[in-house]
Amino acid sequence: MQREILLLGDERLYEMSVPVTSSEWSTLEALENDLHDTLMGFRERYGVGRAIAAPQIGVKKRVIYMYIDQPILMVNPKLTFLGEDKIEVLDDCMSFPYLLVRLERYKKCQLSYIDREGNEQSILLEDDLSELIQHEYDHLDGILATMRAKHIKDLVHKRP
Ligand SMILES: [Zn+2]
Repeated sequence: MQREILLLGDERLYEMSVPVTSSEWSTLEALENDLHDTLMGFRERYGVGRAIAAPQIGVKKRVIYMYIDQPILMVNPKLTFLGEDKIEVLDDCMSFPYLLVRLERYKKCQLSYIDREGNEQSILLEDDLSELIQHEYDHLDGILATMRAKHIKDLVHKRP
């Protein structure tokens, strides 16, 4: 089911999400379906959108859903930055479709998570995937890209 995407300024986006417990595992399928439908709905409307974090639909759980070539559900992820290299990006977000934020992200990172089958996974990410996952992971900690802007001029209006 397509859910409403919370928008910039909504208090719920600034809250810390909590890990999924083993007793909640059975609720993941419904959550994954909702994340999928919501991401696809956004893509249809705006032509962009590679991933979504559960708190963006008001679910305060540490879950990220990414769909690039194939769907990947990441439960209780842990992020590690690799090295000191950073890249400057113009970040966008489904919670503010008409805004870009110039900011820095780590060039390389590693993400470990539990997949939908309950197996532990670990992936190395670089460049665009690295910045994407850092963006989604921030959502789990209640951090929006706007909060990472160094200067107010780093907020750029995006032409619809
Ligand atoms: Zn976002």
